Amino acid sequence: MKKTELIYENDSYCAEFEATVLSCIENDGRYDVVLDRTAFFPEGGGQAADKGTIDGILVLDVQVNDGVVIHTVESVCPIGKKVTGKIDWQTRFTRMQRHSGEHILSGTVHSLFGYNNVGFHMSETGMKIDFDGPLTQPDIDRVEKEVNFAVWKNLKVTAFYPTDEEIKNIEYRSKLDNIENLRLVEIEGVDCCACCAPHVARTGEVGLVKIIDSMPVKGGIRLTVLAGYEALCDYSMLNTLNKQLMKTLSVTREAVSNAAKRQTELIDTLRHEKGELSNRLAWRELSVVKVNNSAYAFSENSSYDELIYCANKLADEGVETSLLFSKNDDDGYIYLISSRERDVREIVKRLNTTFNGRGGGKPNYAQGRVVCDSTEKLKSFAENCLNE
Ligand SMILES: [Zn+2]
Repeated sequence: MKKTELIYENDSYCAEFEATVLSCIENDGRYDVVLDRTAFFPEGGGQAADKGTIDGILVLDVQVNDGVVIHTVESVCPIGKKVTGKIDWQTRFTRMQRHSGEHILSGTVHSLFGYNNVGFHMSETGMKIDFDGPLTQPDIDRVEKEVNFAVWKNLKVTAFYPTDEEIKNIEYRSKLDNIENLRLVEIEGVDCCACCAPHVARTGEVGLVKIIDSMPVKGGIRLTVLAGYEALCDYSMLNTLNKQLMKTLSVTREAVSNAAKRQTELIDTLRHEKGELSNRLAWRELSVVKVNNSAYAFSENSSYDELIYCANKLADEGVETSLLFSKNDDDGYIYLISSRERDVREIVKRLNTTFNGRGGGKPNYAQGRVVCDSTEKLKSFAENCLNE
């Protein structure tokens, strides 16, 4: 089939076009439509397919196969019919801002550091651009500044098809093995790169390029980048979040970070103080029964940390082995057993077997829980154990 005339290659601002339907083939309930010409950019080069309609019929996907563009649509388009294609312009323009922003950034990194763009993925959450060399944070800041200065210079962006002779004398990125129909996108004084995608006509239309994240990859670096409308949306989102934080923390916008840090420190202090107080309370409320040099005790709703505190207090008082139980729910008790002399693992084994428990630990310390509906049964277990 004859190759499709690609309107976007020479006119990236064409959002509406007339064309003739050359073929329409049913494909799993959808229709694959080929037109004689199209402004729809097919998926490729890291960029998603354009969205839009053909004669009001929703275009679901656009792919290119051997120069023929296939539009997958929801319903039939009769062969020979003159149709009107409409591109979803907001989506397309946003992608043009992104893609041109990427070229400016890749060209800038290449000229400042000599690194190549070795991987590229575009999505709504930001472009991921991989370079084959590392960048420090000051390097990234410098790149971002240079890129935005290039944007604000409102430089001309031109797509052209050089002759074989001209190609020999042109320095460009993304060199291809097959230079047949090579299309170059040149950004005046900043970049020249092989590319098939639609771009803005002047860099000023990109508006803003913001590097929002970076991570090392295979000896190089991956930058996450937003441009144009998506950078604005991100700024709006961050500003809304910051305003919510300002309100919550009752501080000015510049003070949010320090205020959040102070709140976290305060929470840490209060958590520590609360732990100290609840330990002391658990110790005061503990009913201890001494047996020989050892002891057992019961409490309610104590945590393991509180039981550890109590066991240490008992050890300070000279208690050799302690069995501590806390009833925290209807099913049973948590326990903590510690000793300076005995290997408590043997006690734990018997306790777990007798009361369908689980848990364990080290020779001098163990914790776990048992299923038991009677304090008396545990008391008699403890008495027997400590009287041995
Ligand atoms: Zn490109």
